[in-house]
Amino acid sequence: MTLMRRLFSIAAWFFLALAPLLSSVGMAADGTLRYHSEPEITGWLKSLPLRNPSLVQYRSIGTSNQGRDLGLVTLTTGPVQLGTPKPAIIINATHHGDEKIATESALHFIETLIVDQDKPEVTAMLSRFVFYVQPLVNPDGHAGGTRADAAHRDINRDYSYPLRSDRLSFKTREARAVRDLIDSLDVGAAIALHSGTDGVLWPWCFTKEAPPDAPFLERLAWRTARSIGTVARQSHHDYPSSGEFSDFVYWRQQAPALTIEVDRRRQPHPSQINTISARTTRGIFEFMNEFMKAGDAPVTLSKENNLRRAI
Ligand SMILES: [Zn+2]
Repeated sequence: MTLMRRLFSIAAWFFLALAPLLSSVGMAADGTLRYHSEPEITGWLKSLPLRNPSLVQYRSIGTSNQGRDLGLVTLTTGPVQLGTPKPAIIINATHHGDEKIATESALHFIETLIVDQDKPEVTAMLSRFVFYVQPLVNPDGHAGGTRADAAHRDINRDYSYPLRSDRLSFKTREARAVRDLIDSLDVGAAIALHSGTDGVLWPWCFTKEAPPDAPFLERLAWRTARSIGTVARQSHHDYPSSGEFSDFVYWRQQAPALTIEVDRRRQPHPSQINTISARTTRGIFEFMNEFMKAGDAPVTLSKENNLRRAI
């Protein structure tokens, strides 16, 4: 055996020995009490389909400014019929790279869907929807510990919204990758995980005007908020901003889209990762329970009527 082959065989053994440890108890609960690095997270996401081939798929939806994978996992059960796709539920985290408890929460959510796939609550969600989970929208920011991307831009101000066209938006590769994903799907609902303040936020961010679906969005947001022990409000009343993911999805897909601030600290002490991540997962489940009560086409917004209202 050559030295290279011997090294390869040792590396393969190490991977196979380590992988079950990571997969059986999850990234967010593997006992290390620390935040996971971007390479660890991407490696773990890529490993999931190997052990759960009927439930999980991995794909890269592009590369970041610095060439890192924009990793996405999809989770669903049963065949997805051609022509009758299941609605997509989008969960993403870390538009802001230093909000690492949001990333860990997304990992915990993935792990929970896998581990609890036979529990009735989870089985019902997996059979009805396809979950698209992107834990690292901004892997460069996560790797560098910065809010912005590698070119100092805020990805969560880069989306189009009723007062700004696509042409004047999407300067970042990362937001373009998310846009292309959203445009390729029938989105049922979306949640962006952030951290650094309190609250569950519903659109709009760009105007203080209430959205046409305010009662529905409020109900979703408040149920989610109560389950994680926080409050809900329209995003504009948190602080006004424009170009956020949640406004984009609500407008583009006429789908409810919330921001969940999972903790008021961006990176709480590692000993609290599991508690906060589990609480966030509970909040997403509560959101889904409320969303599933709403039936088909719960949103009344149309792109045209909203443009008239907003301009
Ligand atoms: Zn944020």
